[in-house]
Amino acid sequence: MNTTIVRAACPHDCPDTCALLVTVKDGVATQVHGDPDHPTTAGALCTKVARYTERTYHPDRLLHPMKRIGKKGEGKFVRISWDEALDTIAARLKAIAVRDPRAILPYSYAGTMGLVQGESMAARFFHRLGASLLDRTICASAGGAGYKYTIGARIGTDIEQFQNARLILIWGGNPIASNLHLWMRVQEAKRRGAKLIAIDPYRSLTADKCHQHIALMPGTDAALALGMMHVLIREDLIDYDYIARHTLGFEALKERVQEWPPERVAQVCGITTQEIEQLAREYGATARRGEGAVIRLNYGLQRVHGGGMAVRNIACLPALVGAWRHAAGGVQLSVSDSFPKNSQALQRPDLMPAGRAPRTINMSTIGNDLLREASPEFGPKIEALVVYNANPLAVAPESPKVAQGFAREDLFTVVLEHFQTDTADFADILLPATTQLEHVDVHAAYGHHYMMANNAAIAPLGEARPNTEIFRLLAARMGFDEPCFAESDDAIAAQAFDSRNVRAIHFDWDALKQKGWQKLNMPEAPFADGGFPTPSGKCEFYSERMKADGFDPLPSYIPPHESVASSPELGKPYPLAMISPPARNFLNSTFVNVKSLRDTEGEPHLDIHPADAAVRGIHDGDRVRIHNERGSFVMKARVTDKARPGLVVGLSIWWKKLASDGKNANEVTSQRLTDMGRGPTFYDVLVQVEKA
Ligand code: SF4
Repeated sequence: MNTTIVRAACPHDCPDTCALLVTVKDGVATQVHGDPDHPTTAGALCTKVARYTERTYHPDRLLHPMKRIGKKGEGKFVRISWDEALDTIAARLKAIAVRDPRAILPYSYAGTMGLVQGESMAARFFHRLGASLLDRTICASAGGAGYKYTIGARIGTDIEQFQNARLILIWGGNPIASNLHLWMRVQEAKRRGAKLIAIDPYRSLTADKCHQHIALMPGTDAALALGMMHVLIREDLIDYDYIARHTLGFEALKERVQEWPPERVAQVCGITTQEIEQLAREYGATARRGEGAVIRLNYGLQRVHGGGMAVRNIACLPALVGAWRHAAGGVQLSVSDSFPKNSQALQRPDLMPAGRAPRTINMSTIGNDLLREASPEFGPKIEALVVYNANPLAVAPESPKVAQGFAREDLFTVVLEHFQTDTADFADILLPATTQLEHVDVHAAYGHHYMMANNAAIAPLGEARPNTEIFRLLAARMGFDEPCFAESDDAIAAQAFDSRNVRAIHFDWDALKQKGWQKLNMPEAPFADGGFPTPSGKCEFYSERMKADGFDPLPSYIPPHESVASSPELGKPYPLAMISPPARNFLNSTFVNVKSLRDTEGEPHLDIHPADAAVRGIHDGDRVRIHNERGSFVMKARVTDKARPGLVVGLSIWWKKLASDGKNANEVTSQRLTDMGRGPTFYDVLVQVEKA
């Protein structure tokens, strides 16, 4: 038997971007392990990807191109040849492009995080076509915007420092489920005596294992950060030297936070003044002692109206107390801007037809936008959608509208997929894509500082093809003859990072493929001596850019679109806040169809506090209907104080077709956007719950 070990990288939308070792026996991948030599993977994988072979060889894998024969959404298809599939697509796109190529929309996100199978050949194709651009906002754009106004770029504390911290605030995230390798280091810090505090409306698996859990109401994190700053300044727990040398706008900030005494903050957040004061004191005192006070700030908290501002406010904290001085201090939201990605070479925006104004569609409002008619303001009606690396029917907000849009008979929809997802059911042409084991890719990360290579471990299954190959073949049929459309995947990967940037010392694709990873040349403590990549070079408590963009230039509080406090009229019929964070065994909507993982997760359930359940006559195990004016769905109630009073939690994202009522939590989420970054507000939702 011929056995080889192939170096690969996890492609999923997870900060950990693990280094994989794939065991291949006679051309069949038999096991996937975490590489013990990769410093952050450290030989461990999450339960999802440890079963990657189960997913790759799943009996439901799409192995041939297909065309729809039933109604849209019915999921009835018949096998066709690649030639027929590609000819059909090219003919439809050409006919639309003659009228107006902006009527064609790509729809993609992080189904793979690979720089090659993500947005390289696909982006070149749509740029050359002159298609509408997609504003890829669905996950992190609000927080990214708030962070960048304050810090300058998504650069932060190195994961490899967390075990040295003395105080760790896990704010708006559940690393046990979605950032496992950071959690391993947090555990080590705990063993060494660090204190862990979770700030989260829900007592998640992670919050349960922290020393303290502050269960604030969703959408109020910005107020908590303002209250912390009030106490820090009032009690003189700040670093005057760091503030003077490396920050901008302290006097104005000081005045602003006077408006946010703990009593006011407690009322807004639904917590006690003692919790706020104690949190601020521990945070300030740890930094003052010269010990690592670090915040793992995650994207959960920015999926609300004021999400961008909330991240901005929290990002001010380390500079206020001088926590950046310590390598195990500061904050990590994402480190993705540490990577010198060469997007120009990968995506070739220069291919866009000269003289045409591109139109941009926000992926978070796809439900509304698919239902819009042509107008001078909107441009042409969307006539064709090409979906890859995404499952908007399950994932996009306000699902009833998304389904209505995808069901349009006059919409031509192409879906590249591994499985027949909720979205694939609406395809006119369904194309089988390769999984990570079957293609080449190169990865940056957003939770560590390693460039990662993915070698193809096995040949493509059935007639599956890499995304790059599909767009290469389509480009040829469209008559696109620029040399970039003939580039191999290896040639694309070799352009992924800009070697002239000092952070990527000697980026060499062939060497990376051999070794599997290479660390960037990042300083241990990125802002110990300031040097923030903002216009002022300082951490900006006051931001002229925000003022110019129409925002309050100082940290402030923007209430949720929907909360009992901010919208009392809506709160009468719909008095419960709902959030739908990731279930441990799923990764967004990926892995939901892997039976062993779905069995572990059980069935869709809603966590509701005993007091909220009692007034509704709901008992543990009852089937309940969750509803608001946008829609409704059914889950099984779990009566538990993991959900704080006034909050219900539906761990997600279930495939709609695998739920008993064919629906999921996005039936009730809204298409309203965040304050900045044009992001979705998945966790800014009021509902009512009743026995089904
Ligand atoms: S999903 Fe995350 S933790 Fe799991 S293997 Fe991939 S990168 Fe690692």
